[in-house]
Amino acid sequence: MVRAQFKRDIVILGGGLNGAALALALSYGPHEVTLVEPCPPSSPAADWDARIYAYSPGNVAWLRGLGGWTDTLRQQPLHAMRVHGDAQGQLTFDALETGLPALAFMAENGRLQWQIWQALQARGVQIVSERPVAVEWGERGVVHRVCCDAGTELEARLLVAADGAHSWLRQQAGIGLDVEDYCQSGLVANFECEHPHRGIAWQWFRSDGILAYLPLPNRHLSIVWSTPTEAVAARLSQSPEALAHEVAEAGGRVLGDLRLITPAQAFPLKRRLAHEWVRPGLALLGDAAHTVHPLAGQGVNLGFRDSRLLAEMLASGGDPGEIGRLQSYALRRREDVLSMQAVTGNLKRSFYELGAPFGAWRNTGMTIVNALGPLKQALMRHAVQ
Ligand SMILES: Cc1cc2nc3c(=O)[nH]c(=O)nc-3n(C[C@H](O)[C@H](O)[C@H](O)COP(=O)(O)OP(=O)(O)OC[C@H]3O[C@@H](n4cnc5c(N)ncnc54)[C@H](O)[C@@H]3O)c2cc1C
Repeated sequence: MVRAQFKRDIVILGGGLNGAALALALSYGPHEVTLVEPCPPSSPAADWDARIYAYSPGNVAWLRGLGGWTDTLRQQPLHAMRVHGDAQGQLTFDALETGLPALAFMAENGRLQWQIWQALQARGVQIVSERPVAVEWGERGVVHRVCCDAGTELEARLLVAADGAHSWLRQQAGIGLDVEDYCQSGLVANFECEHPHRGIAWQWFRSDGILAYLPLPNRHLSIVWSTPTEAVAARLSQSPEALAHEVAEAGGRVLGDLRLITPAQAFPLKRRLAHEWVRPGLALLGDAAHTVHPLAGQGVNLGFRDSRLLAEMLASGGDPGEIGRLQSYALRRREDVLSMQAVTGNLKRSFYELGAPFGAWRNTGMTIVNALGPLKQALMRHAVQ
């Protein structure tokens, strides 16, 4: 039964960070926008969210300008990062070298999503909290129609798939996907630490995986430990004390004793790349279009850069589903995504697939990059965008 019908310029499926940020950016433009999200975020509790990300200064400035990032957000500036190889290799990044106040800002997924949604509501963006169940594709130049489970029907000149790595809309469009299984899972957990972290992040390329310590406010710490999938179950079943002890030891006790404050969770890690990002009246972005290894903390940042560019390109008005402009969006975003997939994939492979004979080479490589100012500066310039 059709309960309500709307004709809109743009309908975005997925109100996670990427889709919600796009909807907010588009609310300042000439088009009528609707966001469809079956699981709206709830008001954040005092507990720490298991999903904590490092947001680049460029993306934070963009969100701030839209009213989606405010000082009330629980956040921690990242002043420096120390990366250690499995031998003597070492890379250090310092915010002072970039001329920026921070290399990145740590914040919880749930709290940031909540802030963006508050801003969306303040801007009067139409939100449909239903699950799409069918899509009818219009002919070239004709609108597409999305039908939702509680009876809402939406016609749009542009449909945006921002519905995550398992994108329903991408599947409905029959768009294929390149998938590379990293055979690793990312174990995430939060801890209280004995010693102050001074806003420094650490990352260790160990023989059993990549461990990252990411600072949070008030002597708290978030970790991402990317390890072979078969090793994750054992870690998840440990007692909180045993896991805290193992994580503290694996990090050389740089922050002293740790105490687990949120239960550990694990996510399988895969590189994904959609075969097509755009069609007439259809655009993919964020995890629906691509996923990367989290070792560089860039997944959601790439998605925000997709949203930034798409919103910027649509700001001049006209038909939002026109394929020429959408192709130009896809072309301009592909290079950033492909280079990040190559860098993270090659780093992971050089440590875990090439084996011991390459150990000296890769550790020397890290130390050389560290000593070579311009290459390191280029890496940092890319990461802070
Ligand atoms: C262990 C780990 C650590 C990470 N760390 C970082 C980091 O430090 N920095 C970083 O930048 N990235 C990081 N990432 C990547 C980051 O988590 C993702 O890139 C990001 O969350 C993707 O956001 P999204 O909005 O595209 O998708 P999602 O967050 O998956 O949001 C998709 C939304 O679509 C909704 N949805 C689902 N189906 C439908 C449907 N049919 N119709 C409508 N809506 C639907 C969902 O409810 C959801 O709200 C990490 C990833 C992992 C696994």
